Amino acid sequence: MLPTALHYSHQLLREIIVPGDTVIDGTVGNGHDTLFLADLVGSQGHVYGFDIQGQAIDTSQQKLIKAGLTAQTTLLHQGHETIPQVLDDHVTVKAAIFNLGYLPQSDKTIITKKETTLTALDSLLPKLVVGGRVIIVIYYGHEGGEIEKDGVLAFVKTIPQQDYNVLSYQFINQQNNPPILIAIERKKASHP
Ligand code: SAM
Repeated sequence: MLPTALHYSHQLLREIIVPGDTVIDGTVGNGHDTLFLADLVGSQGHVYGFDIQGQAIDTSQQKLIKAGLTAQTTLLHQGHETIPQVLDDHVTVKAAIFNLGYLPQSDKTIITKKETTLTALDSLLPKLVVGGRVIIVIYYGHEGGEIEKDGVLAFVKTIPQQDYNVLSYQFINQQNNPPILIAIERKKASHP
C-alpha cells in the first residue's frame, strides 16, 4: 500500500541517514521524530531538535532519557529560525524534518508560521551535504495553516533544479486537508 506522509517521511530519512550523521528535527513536538533520528544517527552522530514550547522539549527529553538516546541529542527550547545561530557556518547537515502545524492534544494557537519556517529552510539548504534531504510535512487544516502552506509551496518551487531535487507527495483524493510531504534533496554543490 502507498505509505502515509508520516511513514514516507521516515522512509525517505531512513534511506540516507547513517550512524555518525548530523541531523535536525525542526519541530520536536512529542519527540517521535527526534527519537527516530537519534536512533538512526547512533552515539557518534547528533540530532539538534528545536521547539518553542517548553512542554514539548521537557516531554521529549524524558522520552530520550528512557530510551538511552540523550548523548546524541541536543534539544533547544527555541525556534528553528535560530538554526544559523546554533550551527556554525562550517557545520553540514545530512537531513532535517519539519512537521508543520500545531502539536496534537495541545494549544492549537501555537503553530508554525510561514516567516520563521522559510527563514529556517533558507538557512538550512546551503548546509545540506550532497545527497542530504530536508523533509517538510505540511499540515494546514487549522487557522493560519493555508498561509504557511502557500508560502512554503511558493518557496520550494523556486529552489534551483540544478542543485536540488524537490518532490511533492500527497493523497489528492482524500478529504479534510491531507498533509503534503515535500522532500528536498541536494544534488551537488552550489556554484559560487
Ligand atoms: N514532530 C512532532 C512530533 O513528533 O510529535 C510534531 C510537531 S507539531 C506538528 C509542530 C510543533 O512545532 C509544535 O510542537 C510547535 O510548538 C512547534 N513550533 C511552532 N513554531 C516553531 C518554531 N518557530 N520553531 C520550532 N518549533 C516550532
